[in-house]
Amino acid sequence: MKHKGIYIVVAVVVLVPLGLLLRTFSASPLPMPKPYEGPLPSATPPPELAVFSAVTGVNHRNAAFGYRGGSFFERRDFSMAGTLVKHPQGDLLIDTGFGHNIDAQFRTLPLFFRAITFYSLLRPVADQLGASGYNLKSLRAILLTHSHWDHVSGVPDFPGVPVWVTPQEHEFIRKSSDMDFCRLFNGIRYEEYGFEGRPYLGFSASHDVYHDGSVVVVPAFGHTPGSVIVFVTLPRGTRYAFVGDLVYQLEGITEREERPWLVRRMGADEDAAANRENLLRMIALKERLPELIIVPAHDMRGFDKIPPLSQASKR
Ligand SMILES: [Zn+2]
Ligand SMILES: [Zn+2]
Repeated sequence: MKHKGIYIVVAVVVLVPLGLLLRTFSASPLPMPKPYEGPLPSATPPPELAVFSAVTGVNHRNAAFGYRGGSFFERRDFSMAGTLVKHPQGDLLIDTGFGHNIDAQFRTLPLFFRAITFYSLLRPVADQLGASGYNLKSLRAILLTHSHWDHVSGVPDFPGVPVWVTPQEHEFIRKSSDMDFCRLFNGIRYEEYGFEGRPYLGFSASHDVYHDGSVVVVPAFGHTPGSVIVFVTLPRGTRYAFVGDLVYQLEGITEREERPWLVRRMGADEDAAANRENLLRMIALKERLPELIIVPAHDMRGFDKIPPLSQASKR
């Protein structure tokens, strides 16, 4: 009898909370929104406009970390990447992925996060650009989807290149979150931009970088207070959406699954409800435009649809 009591105590104290916690990782699709019904904005990109991917490293995770319903047993290497947008008015680097100093920077992150994070550095984007013969004078700015550690690590590898942020994200950087490396950098020239343009593909406002519709930034606040999505439209009409960490994996869109509660609680989302609103906007847009290529910052499958930086000099 005595043993039976112990089993009951173990069940209540350990197994019940564990079961409840595991439930938060189970599939729970968001309701399907109505497809986006608004106008499709026109773009007149110059013929030279092109995008190139630079995967700088990977974070060894599993699918369960990425989205509700993902398996703990399915390994996923999350991409840590930047994207070069070549434009005759000056190129942009959307996020940097891992930079030269990732190892030293990583040691400043919270202990618990480091204990569950295993990454491999492949090649920093600055080195990939150098190897492709890229002229750094062509780089007009680094455009951040947001300021988390894995998106800004390479910023100091580009001294003198301005970093474009929304005022909200700039404020977030000033507050110096422990998941952000910007607190470690000196002499970075942040340049703020606003959303003076009209609603764009379901998002409330827009910033048309080159005034030709080729690169349009929209506010998607939630994951961080100033997160953005960058739409790029190529001359032949191919449309990309660089969604940053709106979702970690494409199943966030295709299966309408948010990040698991625990991942969000660990600091993934500053405002989970706002992030959900933007996720639903993106799902609605994908329903209308199935050909839209969505590139979450950490999904290798998105970057597989972009030519790598090593091909940039051949074009
Ligand atoms: Zn993030
Ligand atoms: Zn990230």
